[in-house]
Amino acid sequence: MAYDFPDARGHFGPYGGQFVAETLMEPLARLTEAYARLKNDPAFLAELDNDLRHYVGRPSPLYHAERLTAKWAKNGGGAQIWLKREDLNHTGAHKINNTVGQALLAKHLGKTRIIAETGAGQHGVATATIAARLGLKCVVYMGAEDVQRQSPNVYRMKLLGAEVIPVKSGTQTLKDALNEALRDWVTHVDDTFYIIGTVAGPHPYPMLVRDFNAVVGRELLTQCPERIGRLPDAMVACVGGGSNAIGMFYPFLPHPEVRLVGVEAGGHGIDTPDHAAPLSAGMPGVLHGNKTYIMANEDGQISNTHSISAGLDYPGVGPEHAWLKDSGRAQYVAVNDEPALAAFHELTRVEGIIPALESAHALAYAQQMATGLGPDHHIVVNLSGRGDKDIFTIAKREGIELL
Ligand SMILES: *Cc1c(COP(=O)(O)O)cnc(C)c1O
Repeated sequence: MAYDFPDARGHFGPYGGQFVAETLMEPLARLTEAYARLKNDPAFLAELDNDLRHYVGRPSPLYHAERLTAKWAKNGGGAQIWLKREDLNHTGAHKINNTVGQALLAKHLGKTRIIAETGAGQHGVATATIAARLGLKCVVYMGAEDVQRQSPNVYRMKLLGAEVIPVKSGTQTLKDALNEALRDWVTHVDDTFYIIGTVAGPHPYPMLVRDFNAVVGRELLTQCPERIGRLPDAMVACVGGGSNAIGMFYPFLPHPEVRLVGVEAGGHGIDTPDHAAPLSAGMPGVLHGNKTYIMANEDGQISNTHSISAGLDYPGVGPEHAWLKDSGRAQYVAVNDEPALAAFHELTRVEGIIPALESAHALAYAQQMATGLGPDHHIVVNLSGRGDKDIFTIAKREGIELL
């Protein structure tokens, strides 16, 4: 099977595309054309490589979690657990891979103003960071509800020089922030570049964001043979919008011997309304300019989602994942809040690595997989981010009041 998606019009099989207002078609076409030119430009690629190496801190290590492997083996499992350490990147997650890439596009296109949407604030911080470095004006749209819930990240963005605009429409969360950012882009398209934070939105965004995150999978294609002696049996990544997962999976699509598993947020369970697992328990539909799996009621009204991890709390998913699910090349499962929390504590205590709650979902599923596999099996987990941002959530659940 060939995996050179999307097609020229941004389709991944029946998914993707550009379901947007007429006014956005022209800016999207210009962006698509500019990217097609720059992605093969040696000067652009050299600059990107330099930033990833010396600003982001790449390549990120592939770490053998030996104590965790041994601990989980005691419970009847035994597969070797490896961690791709995206938590060690500048700003603490994979999101910087994409913002560095898109900001460089903005610079090469002569744009002076950057806008972004953010939910928990992680993408907003990554965008404000790179805007500060390049001396670009930065405006971040954030649901008013999220501004309240995520005040440390709001302050971080302000310290970095960004303007944070609270969005008061709809449920005042991520999906509303994304709509508002698209509206801003239409009216300021001459000087403004819109940096989307995950593999969502209209074409070419799902392709752009994938390509910039695919550095993760490319590094693994070299690191796995060096460290493991071959490619792994399976790779596991959490799926919110799907950018860290597709970044890991994409370079491995032509290697069918490597099983690819995306882990969605099961929240309180996919048999309840409180989850964020459109691939596991949603249906095809249109959201934020593309066709994909979404969580909606029978009238097409987007559902409210729930996850303990803010970064997975999104009612849609990148269209390429929808296609990989239908084609069977990747598998998608859901992990609930409780096992994710248990994995969070386990990694922290056994390996001295505090993972993001998002990444803990992937870890929890890797534990399930490891059970029943022998020690000659190897599973690589994408540790998409560090958990410093989550200590407030954890403390609150344990009844502890932090400052
Ligand atoms: C934002 C975030 C995610 C979810 O986004 P994807 O686009 O699905 O990768 C996962 N992990 C961390 C640490 C995040 O900050």
